[in-house]
Amino acid sequence: MSVLVVGSIAIDTVKTPVEEHSDLLGGSASYAALGASFFSPVRLVGIVGNDFPESEFQFWESRKIDSKGVQRANGKTFRWSGEYSWDLNTRETRSIALNVFEDFKPALPESYRETDFVLLANIAPSLQAHVLDQMARPRFVVADTMDLWIETARPDLDALLRRVNLLILNDSEAREITKQTSLIKAGRSIRKMGPDYVAIKKGEHGALLFGEDNQFFSCGAYPLEDIHDPTGAGDTFAGGMAGYLAGTVKKVHFNDLRRAMIYGSVLASFCVEAFSLERLRALSMEEIAKRYETFKLMSQFEVPL
Ligand code: AMP
Repeated sequence: MSVLVVGSIAIDTVKTPVEEHSDLLGGSASYAALGASFFSPVRLVGIVGNDFPESEFQFWESRKIDSKGVQRANGKTFRWSGEYSWDLNTRETRSIALNVFEDFKPALPESYRETDFVLLANIAPSLQAHVLDQMARPRFVVADTMDLWIETARPDLDALLRRVNLLILNDSEAREITKQTSLIKAGRSIRKMGPDYVAIKKGEHGALLFGEDNQFFSCGAYPLEDIHDPTGAGDTFAGGMAGYLAGTVKKVHFNDLRRAMIYGSVLASFCVEAFSLERLRALSMEEIAKRYETFKLMSQFEVPL
C-alpha cells in the first residue's frame, strides 16, 4: 500500500563544528519520502521553485516516489540554514527563506485522494489539516510537528491532534506541549489530546512509544561513533515508521508499531552518517535488515556486548 507524504522540500546549508556544506537537498518531506520508500510506494506532496534540480524528480521516479503532487512554482525553493553545537544534539536556525513556500496550499492530485496511510511531515498544522481535508478516508494518519508550531499555532495543532493516529515528536517538544517534566507523563497526556499512539524521540538516547491501556515500548539508539549531519534524522524516522506500516500492515496493532519504531530508528541512524540524503541514497535493504537485527538484540539485552 502507498503512503502519502506531505512536508517541506528545501535547499539547506548545514554547519557542524567540523564541516559546513551549502545547497544540499533537505526538507522534512524529502527525508520522510526517501525513508518511507524503502518499504512502500510514496505519493509526495510539496512545492519547489525553478532553481530546484530536475535530477531530483528523476531520482524520485527511480525510487517509486510519485511526484505528481509536487508543485513547481515561479520563484526560489524554500531555504533553511542551521548550525549544530558540539554535542550535535542542539542546533540553531541561522536563517529561513520561505520563498515559494510562503503561498503554498497543498493540492492533492485526484489519484492521491484514496491513499490509506498518510504522513504529515513537519509543516504548519493548518497545511497538514488542509491535506487531510482533501482525502477520502485515510485509515492511519501519522503526524510530526516542531516547537515552532507548539509556540505559534497551538489552536491549529490541537485541532489536528484529534485527527491523528500516531503523533511523533521529540522529548523537548513533548515537555513543551504538556508542561510535564516526566516523559512518561507527557506521552500519556498527549494521548489524551487525540492520538491513539505517541512516539517520543530522545535523539541519541532512542525513542519511547505509548499506546492504549498503558502499552509502552522503549527503543534504544544505534551506538554510532561518527555522526556527520543530524539534519533530517527525525523526518527519516517518521518516514521509516509510516512506510513500514503502509507497506506491511493491514490493521495497525501495538506490536506493528514497535517494529515500525525500530525500522524508523535504523533509517535515522543511517541518515546521520553523511550530509543531506547522501547515505540514504546509497543505502540497501540488506544493510537495513542487518542493522534491524542488531537493534532487536539491543532491545533484548539493553547493551550490546
Ligand atoms: P529535522 O532535522 O528532522 O528537524 O529536519 C530538518 C529539515 O527540516 C531541514 O532539511 C529543513 O529544511 C526543514 N525545516 C526547517 N525548518 C522548517 C520549517 N519551519 N518548516 C518545515 N521544514 C523545516
